[in-house]
Amino acid sequence: MSTGSMLAKTACDVLVIGGGAAGMMAALQAAWAGAQVILLEKNEKLGKKIYITGKGRCNVTNACDLEDFFLQVPRNPKFLNAAVRQFTYEDVTSLLEMLGTPTKVERGNRVFPESDKASDVTRAFARGMKDAGVDVELNTGVSRVVREDDVFCVRLVQGGEFRAKSVIIATGGVSYPSTGSTGDGHRFAAENGHSVTPLKGSLVGLTIGEKWPQLLQGLSLKNVRIQAKVGKKTIYSELGEMLFTHFGVSGPLIIELSSHMPEDYASASVTLDMKPALTPEQVDARLQREFAENSRKQLSSVLVGLMPSRMAPVFAEICGLSPETPINQITREQRLTIGAMLKGLPLRVNGTRPIEEAIVTRGGIEVREINSGTMMSKLAPGLFFAGEVIDVDAHTGGFNLQIAFSTGALAGRSAAAYAQEA
Ligand SMILES: Cc1cc2nc3c(=O)[nH]c(=O)nc-3n(C[C@H](O)[C@H](O)[C@H](O)COP(=O)(O)OP(=O)(O)OC[C@H]3O[C@@H](n4cnc5c(N)ncnc54)[C@H](O)[C@@H]3O)c2cc1C
Repeated sequence: MSTGSMLAKTACDVLVIGGGAAGMMAALQAAWAGAQVILLEKNEKLGKKIYITGKGRCNVTNACDLEDFFLQVPRNPKFLNAAVRQFTYEDVTSLLEMLGTPTKVERGNRVFPESDKASDVTRAFARGMKDAGVDVELNTGVSRVVREDDVFCVRLVQGGEFRAKSVIIATGGVSYPSTGSTGDGHRFAAENGHSVTPLKGSLVGLTIGEKWPQLLQGLSLKNVRIQAKVGKKTIYSELGEMLFTHFGVSGPLIIELSSHMPEDYASASVTLDMKPALTPEQVDARLQREFAENSRKQLSSVLVGLMPSRMAPVFAEICGLSPETPINQITREQRLTIGAMLKGLPLRVNGTRPIEEAIVTRGGIEVREINSGTMMSKLAPGLFFAGEVIDVDAHTGGFNLQIAFSTGALAGRSAAAYAQEA
């Protein structure tokens, strides 16, 4: 592996831009298909984003069947049909095993390296690429991709250029830019005639119109249900854990919700059910019993039996009552309001945290301009795309890395075939 200071070769069959999950897979597959491959990575090391995936454990893929897989892809699932069928989760796990990183399956079919170390995934690819003869150039940022006759001229930030018959853009999205994904690939694609759909964050914390979540900053609620509806249609309903923050809400349930939200956040009505195991009637019966047994107490001291103590006074105010209200002064109407709020506390979502904080980018290179059977551009023959730079994203559970691996494998094989034919 070169550090980029002494570039040996400047021409090859397949040039891969980006050494993340998609780029490393593409380079490996292209080399295995017999192509001379160079991979350019602007960072000082490969797979910087992989190191932080799955909280450092890297949820590499998901061992679900293909039908379930497509249900986890809210945008453009059909575009992934060929890629995911020709390189499945089993192909990912066998390849990792072959490269010395066996995997294990956990809850929800999530697959992790047996070692629980994300770094082992990157190491496996680095080893595989070395053995396959891929020339990896680190500290080598690309500034432009220009087509000249039947080859691409790839110019470098530090000066100099590479030439290749096939170029694979695998530069990632725009989330977590400190890992290297700063949107360069969208620019390269646009300069070659491609459209880029609006870039937004997905799998990200949500901002809330109400001020009260800020008062509960740091408080996490377990075993609650978050539900979102657009009109009468339920677009999300899951049980789990959420967190109040200085900007609104986050935690596993909310991160997942963000990827289901419509473009117009305000059109979705999102509610928090703090008593998902009870029906509204059972909640009211419980309130009646608690109120009868504690008629001389104040509202907030009774609410403490139903929710974390920090939340009780805030919840009373949300219900339009003072936390000090004596229980024996609470009307039937007010009790019904408390019950309704316990079962469906509205969270007026008005946006997301910045895209930089998102786990994945929603939006990217327009899929209609890419041949889904090869990952080659329909506008600039010889130019291929792989991974998060494309307008596809999925829910949590290992699906985003599977997309990177499947599109990377298809782009790598197709780019090798194209270069060998040309
Ligand atoms: C905190 C976090 C946790 C995550 N956890 C998971 C998980 O457990 N499971 C899962 O499936 N997904 C997870 N994801 C999402 C997943 O990591 C990404 O979708 C996936 O890594 C995208 O791979 P990629 O190769 O397309 O892009 P990237 O991994 O972003 O790689 C792009 C590479 O291109 C390089 N590059 C960019 N521009 C240039 C240039 N001009 N010249 C040269 N090189 C360039 C970058 O430096 C980078 O190394 C997580 C994401 C985050 C942020």
